[in-house]
Amino acid sequence: MPVKRAEKTPMPVREPQARAHDFKEVNQGYTKFHAAFEAERCLRCQEPVCVDGCPVQIPIPEFIHAVATGDMAGAAKILRSANPLPAICGRVCPQESQCEAECSMTKNFDPVAIGHLERFVADWERTQPPSAEAKITRREKVAVIGAGPSGLVCAGELARLGYPVTIYEALHAAGGVLRYGIPEFRLPKAVLDWEIGLLKTMGVEIICNVIIGKTLTLDELFNKMGYAAVFIGTGAGLPQFLGIPGENLNGVMSANEFLTRINLMRGYDFPESDTPVKVGKRVAVIGAGNTAMDAVRTSLRMGAEEAMIVYRRSDKEMSARVEEYHHAIEEGVKFHWLTNPLEVIDDGSGWVGGLKCQQMKLGEPDASGRARPLPIPGSEFVIPVENVVLAIGTTPNPLLTRTTSGLLTNKKGCLVADEKTGLTSKSLVFAGGDAVTGAATVILAAGAGKRAAQAIHNALASRN
Ligand code: FAD
Ligand code: SF4
Repeated sequence: MPVKRAEKTPMPVREPQARAHDFKEVNQGYTKFHAAFEAERCLRCQEPVCVDGCPVQIPIPEFIHAVATGDMAGAAKILRSANPLPAICGRVCPQESQCEAECSMTKNFDPVAIGHLERFVADWERTQPPSAEAKITRREKVAVIGAGPSGLVCAGELARLGYPVTIYEALHAAGGVLRYGIPEFRLPKAVLDWEIGLLKTMGVEIICNVIIGKTLTLDELFNKMGYAAVFIGTGAGLPQFLGIPGENLNGVMSANEFLTRINLMRGYDFPESDTPVKVGKRVAVIGAGNTAMDAVRTSLRMGAEEAMIVYRRSDKEMSARVEEYHHAIEEGVKFHWLTNPLEVIDDGSGWVGGLKCQQMKLGEPDASGRARPLPIPGSEFVIPVENVVLAIGTTPNPLLTRTTSGLLTNKKGCLVADEKTGLTSKSLVFAGGDAVTGAATVILAAGAGKRAAQAIHNALASRN
């Protein structure tokens, strides 16, 4: 066997100084040469353990082999057979803790860059004429609530199976977190628009500005509108707050509001857009997940001179993707580890003037398995800031469950649903994605949507 190169082919990226002040995509994608070079590193293992690390079990060695032999159409077909959102997952999946963490190469070398190759193939596919086809062969209509990745994938799979499908989306545009949360510099809207366009060519109808549980109830979808089954993919969009003094001051926002105003409502383009977002010289983002990293890097692009992460644990416990963390460091983001916010301080006019914090140290692991942060007495200090953005987690919005009888939730407010089928406690109502798991990942949401579509088909077909 030929000796394999030890290092991953690096992803071409834009220079930190240039990219930190605009919203253009940071990662530039492999060229044909990079991709062929990297695909050659794959060992084509007899037991491809990488596949077990992928939540939707993409036949990884097969698609990489197709890239290595220049068969791009073949590679795209293999990828799409398992993952309906490859251009999106190739960009945002935490591959380092999934497929790439399992890759046999990691015993001695860097893993094969599976994610970069997935993105390369999916981007090539977007240069080709759309090939998705679906024909309505079933008379039962299915409604999907929410146009995030779980809903989009469920709708696409149902259309493929011959069902007329309508997605009802609360916001004025489809995509869920992919549209309002993840910024353009990580996931260009053109990529998302292409995937949504594909669904539309397959006959999926998307109706925006409809809140199920308010505009229409879930029961009305069955009784009044004649749907035979419903999939709930409403996500976990309700932000959590710290409950500390000063949280109601002007200049404090949840990361969801901050990112939605900028990404969905084009706050970066004010006054051309109608959405003002006041970003001061110094912005503190509380939390250290993907949402926090997106918010802090967005605040730089909105003109903040100093953007910082404030997190009560250390970098070891941070849940953000490693790539995003490295990009944030390169762009000049500052990090206050082991720092717990105690109070948002008023500047005397009702706006944020500072963030009072306390230094922490790590103790024994808590219920989450991570080291418990413990306060160091007498260590309080104030960070002068004009904005505080809270990115400390989200939960499902209770609107739908409060207005629907017989829909069980657990104590975290997540829908109770069968792990394999997504069937909820209500007959012919299925659910998946963050609404069931709590805030998780795109690929887990997509996988749940795909499984639920098959389960809906099984349930409806067995009635005939
Ligand atoms: P969502 O994407 O939340 O979509 C739900 C949709 O339902 C929304 O459009 C919402 O408006 C709509 N809706 C809600 N209630 C109703 C209703 N009553 N009626 C009609 N419509 C309704 N994951 C990764 O894998 N990698 C990342 O890098 C990553 N980065 C992230 C960055 C940010 C800022 C955030 C917030 C999340 C990130 N995630 C990431 C997580 C990932 O985006 C989510 O896990 C995923 O989007 C969940 O998909 P979903 O379909 O369950 O819900
Ligand atoms: Fe290729 Fe790594 Fe998968 Fe083996 S484990 S088939 S080397 S990607």
